[in-house]
Amino acid sequence: MANKKIVIAIDGFSSCGKSTVAKSLARRLGYAYIDSGAMYRAVTLFALRNNLIHNGKPDKEGIIRALGRMQISFSFDPETEKNITFLNGENIENEIRRLEVSENVSPVSAIADVRRAMVDFQREMGRSKGIVMDGRDIGTVVFPDAELKIFMTADPEIRAQRRYLELVAKGESISMEEIRKNIGQRDFIDQNRKESPLRKADDALVLDNSYLTPDQQLQWAIDRVKEITENHES
Ligand code: C5P
Repeated sequence: MANKKIVIAIDGFSSCGKSTVAKSLARRLGYAYIDSGAMYRAVTLFALRNNLIHNGKPDKEGIIRALGRMQISFSFDPETEKNITFLNGENIENEIRRLEVSENVSPVSAIADVRRAMVDFQREMGRSKGIVMDGRDIGTVVFPDAELKIFMTADPEIRAQRRYLELVAKGESISMEEIRKNIGQRDFIDQNRKESPLRKADDALVLDNSYLTPDQQLQWAIDRVKEITENHES
């Protein structure tokens, strides 16, 4: 039983470092890492490219009709240790991280039929356990029975600063003000939408990483996994 594989759900606010913890935890445990936000970003990119978003308002019917034409997949590049997101066979990893996608993704992901399709896909990907998935509704909706649920949060100003440095390093010219606005808007829409709003699952453990290094966060998560897998053994 020592190697019993579990499902780890990591939810939380935008830009609070969920994917950093999720990826390092998956690597350490030999689990698969699945970035559910990338799926919503891929749908948003498709919608932007196909003129299905007008002045920030998604064309709901058009997007729902187009869902069948979006083939989203992932691959892991062992050389760079990076996950790559594909849309209909095209590598869209860089494009989905751009601000234009971030600015439009929350209204798109509030569409009930979009969520339904993504949740089905996420459950399918997590069927064989041994996964870490991050997002907004993983512990509440996608995997309500996940053995470990982590809810991440951090000071909004620290989150904005981290996201700013990340995007500037990628060559985007952007102001702190735009980032603050985007994070605030996404948090608001994600928490207040009708369908699967972002909230902490009752049985989730809170990780506030405002003043923790990535190594400290990883250690915290490993300790939680050990507690659970050791309980399983007894
Ligand atoms: O995690 P990331 O910031 O890349 O997610 C982008 C957006 O996708 C979020 O702001 C949220 O609107 C949406 N999302 C969601 N449910 C998830 C993952 C992401 O609604 N499970």
